[in-house]
Order: sequence, then C-alpha cells, then structure tokens
Amino acid sequence: MKNVKCLRCIKCGREYEAAPDATTCECGGILDVVYDYDYIRSVSSPESISASDNYTMWRYRPFLPVEEDTKQPPLRVGWSPLYEEPRMAEKLGIRKLYLKDDGLNPTASLKDRASSMGVAKAIEAGYDTISCSSTGNAASSLAGNAAAAGLKTYIFVPERAPIGKVAQLKIFGATVISVKGNYEETFELSKQAIDEYGWYNRNAAINCYLMEGKKTVALEIAEQLGWQAPDYVALSTGDGCTIAGVWKGFKDLYSAGFIDRLPKLISVQSVNTCPINIAARTGEPWQPMEENTIADSISVGVPRNPDKAINAIVESGGIPVEVTDDEILEAMRVTGRECGVFGEPAGVTGMAGLTKLCAEGKIPADASVAVIVSGNGLKDTANGIKAAGEPIRLEPDMDKFRKVFEELQAK
Ligand SMILES: [Zn+2]
Repeated sequence: MKNVKCLRCIKCGREYEAAPDATTCECGGILDVVYDYDYIRSVSSPESISASDNYTMWRYRPFLPVEEDTKQPPLRVGWSPLYEEPRMAEKLGIRKLYLKDDGLNPTASLKDRASSMGVAKAIEAGYDTISCSSTGNAASSLAGNAAAAGLKTYIFVPERAPIGKVAQLKIFGATVISVKGNYEETFELSKQAIDEYGWYNRNAAINCYLMEGKKTVALEIAEQLGWQAPDYVALSTGDGCTIAGVWKGFKDLYSAGFIDRLPKLISVQSVNTCPINIAARTGEPWQPMEENTIADSISVGVPRNPDKAINAIVESGGIPVEVTDDEILEAMRVTGRECGVFGEPAGVTGMAGLTKLCAEGKIPADASVAVIVSGNGLKDTANGIKAAGEPIRLEPDMDKFRKVFEELQAK
C-alpha cells in the first residue's frame, strides 16, 4: 500500500507494518492507520474524485488502506444521500441543516462501511471465515457483506438485540450466537472464540481498518457540500468507533489539503449510558456505566474505542450532549414527519441531541450542521410504533369514516 506509511499505537506510539490482519499493539493500545498525504495528493485531487463514476465508498480509494489489486466487495455501500432540510433548519433556528441518510446502505446502517472494508481486508489476508460481536448493526452488516463475498460468518449478539436485526443475520446465513448477557460479556466471548479458532476479527475497536471504512461517511459529506466541512456534525456515540472514524475522515481531507477547515463534532449519548461524553466533558478517565436506553445500537456501558472517540470530541472543540429515551422517540417522529427519513432510535439520536442544543441556544444561528442518521427504523419497528402511535382502527363503513374524518378536521 503506497498510500499507507504504517500502523501506529495511539497509546505508546509504537509503529507496525500494515499487515491485513493486524490487531492491537503489544501494550494493548489500539492502532491507527498512518497515511502518506503527499502520496495521496500526487495520485488524486478533489476534482479527480468528483469525476469518478464509482458511486460507492470505494470512490475514495486513495484514502483507503487496501492493496492496489484488492477487489471492491460486491454490495453497493456508501454514497448515501445528503438531504438539505430548510424547514427543519428554520425550526431549529440554524442557517443550514443537512441529513445524511446512512440507513440507505444495503443492510440499512452506517456499519456497512466498516463491514465492506472488513470483508476486503479478510480476503486480502486469505481468510474464509470472519467473526464479530455487536449490539446488532455491525453484525447484520457483516453477515450481508460477507455473504455477498462468499465468506462464512460467526456472529455474537447480546440477547436483547432487536428481532429485525437477528432476522437479517439469519437471512444472510450467519451462524448466530445470542449471548445471555450484556454487550461486554458478548464481546469477551467473541474475542475468546476468535482467538481459539483463528477467524478474521471484525471487532471495530480491535481491527483498526474498520474505522477507515466508517470515515468515508465524512469524506462523502465534504464532497457533497462541494469539498467543505459543515460547522458541526452531529451523531450518536456508542462504542466510539463511528465518531472516531468521522473525525479521521475530515482530518484526512484536511491533511491532504482537500478541505480548508474542520467541523466541530456533536457527540450524542443517552443520559443513562454516556461514559464517553462524561470523560470528554470532565477530562477524567471514563467509567463503566449501566446499559439502559431504547437506542440499542448505542447502549454501550463499556466502550471499546473510548480513547479515539474522546480525542475526536475534544480535539474538534466539539460538544458532548445527552438525551432521554423520550427525546429520542420525539426525534424519530420529527425526522420521519419533517424529512421523510425513518431512523432507528440510535439513528436519530444525533438529531435529538442537536434539537436539545438548539433549544438551549448553544448552536449559533448562522451555523451549518450535518446530522448523520446511522440506521434505518425498519430494524426496530416496535420503537417506531412507540414513537408515532397506533393507527386509527375502523370497520369498513363510510359513515364511521366520515365521523372520524370530521373529528380529525375539528382538531
Ligand atoms: Zn502500544
């Protein structure tokens, strides 16, 4: 890989050659892919990328850590729409609001970006089996992307994973182990099994390449805005890998000279489960918390990638903010009704946090904000109904309908 210099430990600084199945540093620290930006600049430019007819995350290949002959995995991941939402912007009292609908990826979440990268690297390293633990979306996306590429998968999920996500796993042919325990216990079991059976590891905090897939959401936002960053990017934070990836993406573009300023990151967690936000706000080491929110994808009490995430929030001059489950349900409703975008609870948690900050007057009126919707609401219809309510139930009788209609008009 001519564009990659090495992998560097974020804890002790030790450098490693970029092997496709590299995991963590000897010291236990997480590795980070270090690029040669001069090389990237010599082979690409904003203009050359914008001229590409590859409408997937792989249009950013100069910024991705893969060998030149590595094949792009089959599913169409990335290049999700960035919608401008003028009515919502007005309601929130900001200049511009953009919604990045990453629920439109093939398995309906942003995690497809990491899984596409994971599949490419597993094949590069010569593996035929790949495994991960996940609160749900990483698992279903791995299962789908691996199925399309002809790889076997072993997936570990906590038993509380929503049935929509488990159904995806089974449909994609994964061997699914539903662990009677929380996310941390699920993660530990998967780690032991991966060590024992020698599968390719698609756990985002251990495999440093996955974040490089996730960062493409930031590359897309910048390109879709005409190669510039918005003032703020709001998104939900669970394990920490996504927000760390978003920051890496913007910093890559900045380092290569493709954009001339960086955004501030708004990290949104649940009031009940917010270890990364507390650490970012106080500067104290993070502490484990209970896992207690309807937003299952970010219900992570023991984050696996806290350091990169905390650094992303602090270094960007960002804002950590926490929301209640009710505020998340309200954001599901509003995002659906105002924007026509159906996000799962964690998918709209970024919007819930932005709404709260705007109400508190913490976002300047001239700001532009991009909100990432990280997963589709059809994965969790129970909470969709909880947010939006039941339909009007009625006999097939026009007189009765007229009565209902008049009542609705009177409201
Ligand atoms: Zn180290």
